[in-house]
Parts: sequence; C-alpha cells; structure tokens
Amino acid sequence: MEAFTFVLFGATGDLAKRKIYPALYNLFIDHKLPQSFSVIGLGRRELTNEAFQANIEHSLHEFSRREANDPNSIQNFLRAFSYCVLDVGHKEDYYKLLKLIETKEEELQSEPNRMFYLSVGPEFFETITANIHESGLGSANGWKRLVIEKPFGHDLQSARDLNTNLKQVFTEDEIFRIDHYLGKPMVQKLVDLQLNNPVLKAVLDNRHIANVQITANEIVGVEERAGYYDHVGAVRDMFQNHMLQVLMMLTINFPNNSTTENVRFKKKLVMESLELLHKEDVRTNVVRGQYEAGMIQGKPVVGYTSEPNIAATSQNDTFIAAKLQIDDYFWRGVPFYIRTGKRMKDKSTRIVIEFKESLKQSGTKDDSTTPNLLVFEISPNEGIVLQLNTRDPLQRGQFKPMQIDFQEDLDNVPEAYENLILDALHGDSTFFAHWDEVELSWQWVQPILEAYEENLVPLRLYAAGTNGPAESDLLLEQDGFQWWFDEKYELENQENESIQQDQFVLNTNN
Ligand code: NAP
Repeated sequence: MEAFTFVLFGATGDLAKRKIYPALYNLFIDHKLPQSFSVIGLGRRELTNEAFQANIEHSLHEFSRREANDPNSIQNFLRAFSYCVLDVGHKEDYYKLLKLIETKEEELQSEPNRMFYLSVGPEFFETITANIHESGLGSANGWKRLVIEKPFGHDLQSARDLNTNLKQVFTEDEIFRIDHYLGKPMVQKLVDLQLNNPVLKAVLDNRHIANVQITANEIVGVEERAGYYDHVGAVRDMFQNHMLQVLMMLTINFPNNSTTENVRFKKKLVMESLELLHKEDVRTNVVRGQYEAGMIQGKPVVGYTSEPNIAATSQNDTFIAAKLQIDDYFWRGVPFYIRTGKRMKDKSTRIVIEFKESLKQSGTKDDSTTPNLLVFEISPNEGIVLQLNTRDPLQRGQFKPMQIDFQEDLDNVPEAYENLILDALHGDSTFFAHWDEVELSWQWVQPILEAYEENLVPLRLYAAGTNGPAESDLLLEQDGFQWWFDEKYELENQENESIQQDQFVLNTNN
C-alpha cells in the first residue's frame, strides 16, 4: 500500500475513540499499513500532540479487539499521530491544516495521498468538502478520498442535495459511504458463500424458498442519543441503510466475476426490482412501534417517552417491521420480512431463510415436522445453522428438528471498521454504499416517511424486553408464517441434536 495521510475530522469524538483508533491499531500490528503513514486528528478542543496521543492510547486499552500491551508497538503506532485545532466553519483553519499535512508528507517523503474521514455530524459534510476544495487540500497530485459516516441525508431530497454538493468536490469513485453492516464478517462472507458453494446457489430462489426474515434487534434503548434519534427513528437509523444493505447482499445473484462494479450493478438491480410501496399501502405492509416500560434482563426500564430528553408526546418509531417483495426472476413471490427495534428481548442480527415444505405439498407431511431453515447469524455471534427434520429414536415415529450448527470463532476476526478502513485505503469500494443504492433505498423508504408524517400508520406500543408489537407477528401470520428463532436456538430446549461444526462443510475464505 502507498503511504497516506489520514485526516480525521471529529478526532475527539466517540466514534473515533471506540472504533477508528482501535481499527487503525489492529491494522498496524497486523502489518497491513504501509511503513510510513500519518494521521492528523482535528477538533475544536485545544490539545497538545502528547495529550492527543495519550487519549488514543487510552482508547486502545479500552476498546481494542486485541490487547494493547506491547509498549513498543504502541509507541511506534502513536508516533504517526498529530493533532490540529480546526473548527469546520473557519476557513483559515484549513490553510493551517494544509501546511501541517505538507510538512508531514515532506518528512515522510510520501506522495500526497489523502484520506478525509468525516467522523462528525452530517450537518458539517458540505461545509467541510467545500473548504477542502477551496483551501487546495484536495488538489495535490496523489489520490484523495472521502469517507463519510451515516446518516446520508434525512429523506430522498436531502440525500440528493447532499450528494450533488459532495460531487462538486469528490467523484463517486472517491466517496466511501460507510455502512458498517457491510463490514461485518458474516455479511461480507455472503459473497464468498454464494460464489463458492453451488448448493447455496442452487437453492437460493423462489422455487425453494417460502420466505426470508431479516432481523436486527438491540437491547439498548435510546441512550445518550435522544436529540439525534428522536428525529430519525428506526426507519432512518437502521432500516433505510443497514437493513436494506443486508437485503441486497443476500439477494444479489453474484456473477462469477465479482468485481466492485459487478457487485454494485447487481445491488442496484435488486433495489430497482423492489416493488414500490404506495403511501396508502404502508399501513398494511409496515408495523411502526415504540417501546413502553418493561423488563430487560430482569431489570425494569422506562418507556421511550420517559427517557431523558424525549418529549412525553413523541410519536417516534423505535421499531419497524416491513414486508417487501423483489420482482425479479429469482425472488418473485418470496416475501421478505425485515424488522429492527430497540429494547428488544435479545441482541441479535440474523437472516433466517425458510424453505418451502415439500412434504406438505406432496400430501405426506407429518404435522410434527418443522420447516427447513437456513440461518446466517451476523452478530453478536457469527454462525450458520441449518435446521433439518429427523426421526427421534426415543420417541418412535415422531419427527424432531435437528440443527446443524456452525459457530465462527470470532477471537481473531477483524472487526467491521478494520475491514472497511483497510478497503478504503486500498481504494476498494465493494463494501461501501454506492450513491445509486443510497438513492434507491431512500426512494423505497420515502412513502413510509410520508405515511408516518401524516399519521396514516398507527404507532403500536410494545413492552421493553419483548419481540416487538403483536402486529409484527400478525404481519407474518396473515401469510401463514411466523418469525423463527425469536428465542435464541429455541429448539435447544427441546433437546435437539446438534451436529458438530466439522460435519458442516461450506466453503468460506478464512
Ligand atoms: P461525537 O462524539 O459527538 O463527536 C463529534 C466530533 O465532532 C467531536 O470530535 C467534535 O470535536 C467534532 N466537532 C463538532 N463540532 C465541530 C466543529 N464545529 N468543528 C470541528 N469539529 C467539530 O460524535 P460521534 O459519536 O463520534 O459521531 C460522529 C459521526 O459519526 C456522527 O455523524 C454520527 O452520526 C456518526 N456515527 C456515529 C456512530 C457511533 O457509534 N458513535 C455510529 C455511526 C455513525 P470538538 O468537540 O473537539 O470540536
């Protein structure tokens, strides 16, 4: 990799501390960074380089995936870091920054390759990029790249406006829109699994699949993010970006030649094939929920409207479940149910694929069988489960479900931010959201935003610590389905057999 300067806006913030510094450190100790690189942290706070480095060291001790216990490697790592006071609205600060970057580039004798990472509120994106342009920070001979965090817009129009402004300074190839779900190892593995396992390619279509369920549940409530979350809700915070990206990654029919362009082209095709929802139909296809007081892991918690800094009258959504249909050759007729919520019963992100019940269709199905399921556990655990039916030798004649369960050992697996930062440094945008995907996602979600705004969809309350409102179950029941795996590995309680992971062979690249 070529030498680079990593220019970090928001270097004193929470995201930098919890994710970005630990990710850079792990890349550094894995020798994935070049010999010479420099990181310039920016913020309004007055900090000496020493104090800045001490803060980073502290964040490594607290948040690094691997213990930061080698003083030499920590010192070598921290040497690359310097701090510069910058207020995003002060033009003169950008000229000061330019001088500092040029000095560092000279010291390191490196090409002016500059990655601008905006770990700041979205209200600053346009100001920063305009100033990068005006100050000449972005006009050197090396490469320049822009990494931005979500949220990318607030609705379709604001996302288009933001994109138009960014495009005046950076080309699409230079913009890396982070969706950290695309950095999660299991989501990335969906590509590998589908490309290298003909068995998966053979069954992932509407001839075999009855429905698909994608869930991302959190136990936490709104926490300290009230000001942000109360204007955003689950639909913007999770659904428009992370959930639709996971849907795309699952349903694209990967070409054997999976270049960045091909993957992005196929993702765009999926989004274009999503049947549009009309505002009038949102009520029947979408469940809008908000948590009430309840119990989380045995402890009482307050309802959303009693959270600090949330108005007692807030109608904001903390849960969404939606039914979607993809109108293409592979998926026509397969319903996709997607849900995400806060203050749910357990923390889990997973995809459940329910296969058609061929035994039922041929009239020989024993009522005690359950459907075959293929489950991709995305987080916090990572694994693949296949549920089959077998006869129980102890209960003569009865079927019982058997789960073939492969759990990935996550100890040494790079985290999402490591994967994504490394890709961006290499200029590989396969696992970043292209503008076309972002625009089409907002386009799909826009009728929901409008229906919520006009109160066409009732707000369903659910007790904290449950699986969401009852209407979320009804959404599937009306089609003859149910959410699976709401109790984690619910069938373990029924003393199901579990086959060891070495008997479950799928090809993955480790
Ligand atoms: P944060 O803790 O509030 O940090 C904000 C950063 O912005 C601070 O470093 C602050 O530095 C800087 N800043 C604020 N106003 C500034 C100004 N006028 N000029 C220069 N710097 C300024 O926020 P965060 O949690 O790190 O999140 C950063 C961004 O990532 C947000 O857009 C957020 O939506 C997004 N995001 C965060 C997470 C997460 O897990 N935290 C996840 C996904 C996306 P000073 O106070 O020193 O100026």
